[in-house]
Amino acid sequence: VIMSKEAKMMDIFSAELKTVTPSPIHTFSEAVDHVPNILKLTIGEPDFNVPEHIKQAAVAAISSDDSHYSVSAGTLALRQAASQFLKRHYDLNYRATTDILITIGATEALYVVLASILDENDEIPTPAYPVYAQMTRINGGQPVLIDVSDDDFVLTPEKLKQTIATHHHIKAIIINNPSNPTGITYSETQIKALVSVLKDTNILIISDEIYSELTYNGQHESIARYLPEQTVVINGVSKAYAMTGYRIGVLAGPTLLINEFNKVHSFIIMTPSNPAMAAAKVAFSSQESLVSTAKMKQDYQHRRDYLVKALKQLEFECIVPNGAFYVFAKVPDDFIQDDVAFANDLVDKVQLAVVAGSGFGPGGAGYIRVSYAAAMSKLEEAVARLTCYAGIIRK
Ligand code: PLP
Repeated sequence: VIMSKEAKMMDIFSAELKTVTPSPIHTFSEAVDHVPNILKLTIGEPDFNVPEHIKQAAVAAISSDDSHYSVSAGTLALRQAASQFLKRHYDLNYRATTDILITIGATEALYVVLASILDENDEIPTPAYPVYAQMTRINGGQPVLIDVSDDDFVLTPEKLKQTIATHHHIKAIIINNPSNPTGITYSETQIKALVSVLKDTNILIISDEIYSELTYNGQHESIARYLPEQTVVINGVSKAYAMTGYRIGVLAGPTLLINEFNKVHSFIIMTPSNPAMAAAKVAFSSQESLVSTAKMKQDYQHRRDYLVKALKQLEFECIVPNGAFYVFAKVPDDFIQDDVAFANDLVDKVQLAVVAGSGFGPGGAGYIRVSYAAAMSKLEEAVARLTCYAGIIRK
């Protein structure tokens, strides 16, 4: 067989890349696009528009020719706004001048940290969000996927201890609070329990708090408040201000660590985009943003309550999510038990797309993730279709 030149070129890829597979969530979500009349509750993206006062800041930046390189850490104005935001909202202390990098979304912040710390065989334990595992592999590390399904999807100190005891190359742990895909949040007590295990180690805590503003009951608690020397906080404007396409994130941590991270960051992105930074500054610092986010949060909560109630009526078991905008629901016993097959069957029979839980790692099998970052009318239609599906199966 004569191999084409293009096929031969495939040899150029790194050993690490060969272990990386495309996101099953995005693959599925794109694959169902061609299905006529498809209703998708797949992607976790706010359906709201960017609030007007935030948009205007981007427009003003463009009009005033704010078109040159800033510095790689991001504009000082935005770092100051981020610093004050983290202080006011979560009582975190990060100096704008030395402890904060502005990144291309939370995604680049994660990448920068993992690329900076990983050597071959280093291990990164985490429950959930699939990007973590793939980014760990791209950077030559080994993800350790912790199954937390038995503990209502909360990482317990016992499970953390056990993971540390049985893995000897752990450099960092990624905690996602509030969590994608389960919507669980960690209480102060739960965080303190993890702190008691981690404080005597040199394991870096990578705390992905991108959904922090979307915490429904109680206050968001950051683990960085208890172990600041050992934690990096990742946050951003994507979810709370419906700015996913602006691509602005925040990486905050101890000065010495941030200096190192800035090496990778500056070489891969040079600087973030100025109009997006101008908008993010307003998002973090204006009073109007508090109002617009509160309004979105109220809508999400209303949708969550509607969806959880409807799913329970259809005999899906689920924990009421206290954060983010997903419901992680257990497929009822009388439906197809393989979650991937079930998700495909839902598309075939009633043209409804939700994400199969097994894509989120062990513990996700048998579950689906339903995003409620969608208008009420869409959720009502989704429930009508699910009811119709149940009618077909349970006739
Ligand atoms: N972290 C989690 C847990 C997410 O769910 C997402 C987006 O879905 C991200 C990070 C990415 O955020 P950003 O759009 O700011 O890169």
